[in-house]
Amino acid sequence: MHHLPLRSIPALPGQIDGTPVDRWDQWRTVPILSHLDPSCANCADPGPSCIAMGYAKQTVRGRQVQLRRWDAHRCPACDEMRIYENRPGRMGRSERVEVLYAPPRTHAPKFTKREPE
Ligand SMILES: [Zn+2]
Repeated sequence: MHHLPLRSIPALPGQIDGTPVDRWDQWRTVPILSHLDPSCANCADPGPSCIAMGYAKQTVRGRQVQLRRWDAHRCPACDEMRIYENRPGRMGRSERVEVLYAPPRTHAPKFTKREPE
């Protein structure tokens, strides 16, 4: 099913910390996990929120190597956005660091029905 969005989705950054982002995947819905509250801390929208993955790649000796990877989280109601970077951490585990934050633009528009005059 495809339907036109009612409003534009805020653009994701073309670069982060001076590193160009080669690709952002399409926004998709975050799966609901029973142990995590999917609601938005800002506007209390029940969720689920949206996620998009971003990648920076570099060609090293003819091979594409992934340099950096981000995941952007957005509330579909208020557009508050946080972008996290997955960085290699200690003991081979990756660390998740918040690198960018975009404040909510507006609360979800509330439409009221208008009667003809
Ligand atoms: Zn929200």
